[in-house]
Amino acid sequence: MTTSENLFARAQELIPGGVNSPVRAFRAVGGAPIFMQSAAGAWLTDVDGNKYVDFINSWGPMILGHAPAVVLDAVREALPHSLSYGAPTRREVELAELLIEMVPSLEKVRLVNSGTEATMSAIRVARGYTGRDKILKFEGCYHGHGDSFLIAAGSGALTLGAPDSPGVTEGVAKDTLTVPYNDVPALKAAIAANPEQIATIIIEPVVGNMGLVEPAPGFLAELRALCTQHGIILLFDEVMTGFRLAPGGAQQLYGVTPDMTTLGKIIGGGLPVGAYGGRADIMNQVAPAGKVYQAGTLSGNPLATAAGMAQLRYLHEHPEVYTQLEATSAHLADGTRQIAKDLGLNYTVNRVGSMFSLFFTSEPVNNLEDAKKADLPAFGRYFHAMLKRGIYLAPSQFEALFVSTSITDELVEKYLGACRESLLEAH
Ligand code: PLP
Repeated sequence: MTTSENLFARAQELIPGGVNSPVRAFRAVGGAPIFMQSAAGAWLTDVDGNKYVDFINSWGPMILGHAPAVVLDAVREALPHSLSYGAPTRREVELAELLIEMVPSLEKVRLVNSGTEATMSAIRVARGYTGRDKILKFEGCYHGHGDSFLIAAGSGALTLGAPDSPGVTEGVAKDTLTVPYNDVPALKAAIAANPEQIATIIIEPVVGNMGLVEPAPGFLAELRALCTQHGIILLFDEVMTGFRLAPGGAQQLYGVTPDMTTLGKIIGGGLPVGAYGGRADIMNQVAPAGKVYQAGTLSGNPLATAAGMAQLRYLHEHPEVYTQLEATSAHLADGTRQIAKDLGLNYTVNRVGSMFSLFFTSEPVNNLEDAKKADLPAFGRYFHAMLKRGIYLAPSQFEALFVSTSITDELVEKYLGACRESLLEAH
């Protein structure tokens, strides 16, 4: 028995499913998850001393790879002062300034501790502002584990085949409308069927949680126009895409400005941070400026803001990071597509910036229904074949790969070599 297997056996006795977040359990691909010991740059080392090239990067936050000096130094500097004050600090102001400078839609912003907190809080504010109860989301998008979002949800909820969770009341579920991603007629029909009842439409502007799915040309602009026309708050959930697809996120990349935005992952540099913000008139509803209540004992935590600030500042001062990520990711994704083709597999590869997915289907993937056509057992075999060759991928077809700046040309070649052998083994 390996140390990982041993730890997993113990964990299963103590922690539901042996993990603290469902997708980590390898349920979709079989086998025991690997327990990690340390990480540096592109490399993970597990508790048995095995090494892997990381293409998950903590599900997105580690855009500079693991343990970047710039972030570690900032945390070290903050460490002796206090782990938490529960009182305002200078860095919260500076982080808010930087977020507002970089993300087009932000005029005011509130820090929280996770992406889930950000999305839950944002829809409360949207409801408070509009006086409307319903929200609309797209099938296969994941917005954290708030009750309102566990309806036709992606990511872990989709991987486990249980998009609707027990424990979510019918009362909550009835206020969440869902339509297929990229489907303008369905969207228009849902808006027409619920006149002046929809507070907000929440969307992953580029979806990472059913695998990588790109918005169809003009889809986000059409959505923007419909929201304006119907007095609906457009909420971009950029927890994954924020600071990843461009310094100002997907909204900058596609030139569509929402009314509100949620952020997480990269803005914490690997420590727990989320944020929500948007137009000042909307955000002024939040207590204590307004009456919509939202609070947090550890919100704006000194270490988390130090890590996040250091990472964001680096990205702000080094826009060439995005050029590098684009080149590396294009090389990875185009290479993957070509290898599949060489093997007579017409698999679909979707990519936007440093996020991409290889779908085990030859049909285009533009929404959840398309994604579900993938050959999941073949994906499972591919995942394990890659792992055996030292490549750590997300253990689910319904997740994207996240590329970090630590992926060198040499590592791209290592990945592509493993990809060829693994596809041969898996299909
Ligand atoms: N929104 C999106 C788009 C996400 O991808 C996630 C997590 O993966 C969340 C919200 C929830 O964030 P967290 O896991 O930090 O609660």
